[in-house]
Amino acid sequence: MDLSKEQFIEDIKKRNAGEAEFLQAVEEVAETIIPFLQKHPEYRNAKILERIAEPERVIIFRVPWLNDRGEVEINRGFRVQMNSAIGPYKGGLRFHGSVNLSVLKFLAFEQVFKNSLTGLPMGGGKGGSDFDPKGKSDNEVMKFCQSFMTELYRHVGADIDIPAGDIGVGSREIGYLFGQYKRIKGEFTGVLTGKGFEWGGSQIRPEATGYGLVYFVEEILKQQKQEIKGKTVVISGSGNVAQFAAEKCIEEGAKVLTLSDSDGFIYNKKGIDLEGLAYIKDLKNKERGRISEYAEKFGCEYYPNEKPWRIKCDIALPNATQNELDEQDAKQLAKNGCICVAEGANMPCTPAAIAVFNKEHIYFAPGKAANAGGVAVSGLEMSQNSLRYAWTRKEVDQRLKQIMHDIHSICVKYGKEKDGYVNYEKGANIGGFVKIADAMLAQGL
Ligand code: GLU
Repeated sequence: MDLSKEQFIEDIKKRNAGEAEFLQAVEEVAETIIPFLQKHPEYRNAKILERIAEPERVIIFRVPWLNDRGEVEINRGFRVQMNSAIGPYKGGLRFHGSVNLSVLKFLAFEQVFKNSLTGLPMGGGKGGSDFDPKGKSDNEVMKFCQSFMTELYRHVGADIDIPAGDIGVGSREIGYLFGQYKRIKGEFTGVLTGKGFEWGGSQIRPEATGYGLVYFVEEILKQQKQEIKGKTVVISGSGNVAQFAAEKCIEEGAKVLTLSDSDGFIYNKKGIDLEGLAYIKDLKNKERGRISEYAEKFGCEYYPNEKPWRIKCDIALPNATQNELDEQDAKQLAKNGCICVAEGANMPCTPAAIAVFNKEHIYFAPGKAANAGGVAVSGLEMSQNSLRYAWTRKEVDQRLKQIMHDIHSICVKYGKEKDGYVNYEKGANIGGFVKIADAMLAQGL
């Protein structure tokens, strides 16, 4: 049986009409997996790719809650249980106005490959709501989380589906969700990851995505006989991933030039230092302020309504959201001599931007490999919960480093081209796919 890319894409489009983000993610994977399938009839005949592109289950539910004015509000809740071939469903919850089924299916699809790459036994899922915590009081966030979990609890469990955070879901939201699960089920289990350290959370979990991203970049540079020390880094975003990526870059001797939020970006030519970063962390996490306040306080440049990709740098880390870096941005980075782009966010680079990186031989690390550190430490949190034990910061950090090293090796194994250039996207797609495909074959239809 043959599988043509055109036919596959046409079928996927028909079945998922209007789901732009999901289609983009599937097409991106199909691009590298279909040529691989031509050499692997066992996967092709069992229609593994077609099966992976269809969620095992999608749950959509109503989330009613009372705002501080005593009015009824209604949001929509989702959980996409994408694939459980290699472990229980695992993946974050996103609370943001842009959330819809297409966005969550794309994220769940990416998560399946990402989780496979970590080497830990985790299937893939994703969920969330169109509820936007921005501008809501603590009380409203708590009411919403309680209502959300009042439905979600029946679909999740420590050995069934283990949600975590994503955009709009941090330690505060995980706390309220966990409290409600415990209240309803009457059991204290590791049903969520990203918990507070005092109640079952793992050391390094808040830092894991950002630290892991920088460890991955260091692996890429090592492969090129280079190091991160002395390199200039442009970062977008200022949330959890961006903050800890910046922290690790600074600790390793790189110069972080920019951070951003949805209003604009800050540009500090001398490099943002740890003191400045501490201010930003407080500003964003506790005060829920805007990044422009840093520019006012520390006297650096601020560019409203702009993205940072025109700033000359060695390394670019898009850490905000999907499709934030387009073809023009990629060309600008290439022109300015950028050598490596690694995705801290999920799918922040458009397909046209990725094509530019590959053409110019700029090392491009896709999110499913580069930002896998977050879910990897979530996996370690699950292990610690099962053991009823807590590892030290040093132990978790060492494991995280090892996992990022191993993911890099898988990408090189499957992504190295004849001319020596490593196509990390191809390597991550095939490396992630093989493990799931073998499990699906073994388990039958
Ligand atoms: N939301 C994160 C991701 O995109 C973490 C998921 C998790 O820890 O389960 O991978």
